[in-house]
Amino acid sequence: MHIAQLDVTNLERGRKDARWLDISPRVEGGAWQLPLLTITGAQPGPTLVVFAGVHGDEYEGVEAIPRIAEQVDPSQLSGSLLMVPVCNMAAYATATRNSPIDGLNLARVFPGSETGTLTQQIAYWLTRKFISGADFFIDLHSAGVVGDIPTLAGYLHSDEDVGQRSLAAARVFGAPVLWGHPPPIPPGRSISAAIDCGVPCLYTEAAGAGRARPEDVDCFTNGVLNVMRHLDMLAGEPAAVPPPQHLVGDGNMDEIMSTPVAGFFRPHVELLQEVRTGQLVGTIHDPLGNTLSELHAQNDGFVIMRRGVRRVHSGDGLIHLTNRAE
Ligand SMILES: [Zn+2]
Repeated sequence: MHIAQLDVTNLERGRKDARWLDISPRVEGGAWQLPLLTITGAQPGPTLVVFAGVHGDEYEGVEAIPRIAEQVDPSQLSGSLLMVPVCNMAAYATATRNSPIDGLNLARVFPGSETGTLTQQIAYWLTRKFISGADFFIDLHSAGVVGDIPTLAGYLHSDEDVGQRSLAAARVFGAPVLWGHPPPIPPGRSISAAIDCGVPCLYTEAAGAGRARPEDVDCFTNGVLNVMRHLDMLAGEPAAVPPPQHLVGDGNMDEIMSTPVAGFFRPHVELLQEVRTGQLVGTIHDPLGNTLSELHAQNDGFVIMRRGVRRVHSGDGLIHLTNRAE
């Protein structure tokens, strides 16, 4: 079935289904497809949409989504749970962040285009069929192969209703770090599409590096179930979680401290370490051990992202700092 024919508002109640939806023709025949897991509750209620695999080299959410589906009984569910375990199948196939078909980063082209390239078409259908009709939206990301990020729930840090509902759900999600982003969220992200539709949302990050650490998969699995209890889709209270480290700042990883030269990166700070303006946070070396460049913090903050892959080209992002919530 082509995704254009899918009507998620009209699914039969009390069912758990798994299906593949056609998105766009492939050059060798057949179609690029989207996997979809739907669980419709016996009772009406909110619609929660969960994505993973927006980037093709992030696996924690891909592993968590089928586990979440296993744990939700349609007879005990109020509302609908709609989950796409791999949003960018072409990038997933090549284990890359961006699509090998058009080179695009799916998380920079939302809300997409029905007549655009493959990645733009995926964004269009994800927005039109899932995000726009959601009562809450969760996008499960991680650091991918190149980076390292603490396990966290990110949310829109705003006094407006959509921000307050994002924060409330991010708190019950239960990640060890909460990371708020004051508006405006840069365009092109799934969460910017959600906010444009007035849909409260959160996203995650985790260690990545091509792995899916059991503690991160557990965090994402329990986090989504906690949000479902918070939204009264499942009975019971969200599980009690330890108070998170609460940080606030710009989440735009496209504009972070970067290296002016190619070489070998030696970080001098750990994730979540507090650093001061001027502090040496990393050095770049040549293969003989000579120091080519020193990286100093431009401001005070906490290390929220650190590059993992040591070989760097000039312009590669190395470290991102953020602030403590007031
Ligand atoms: Zn990602």
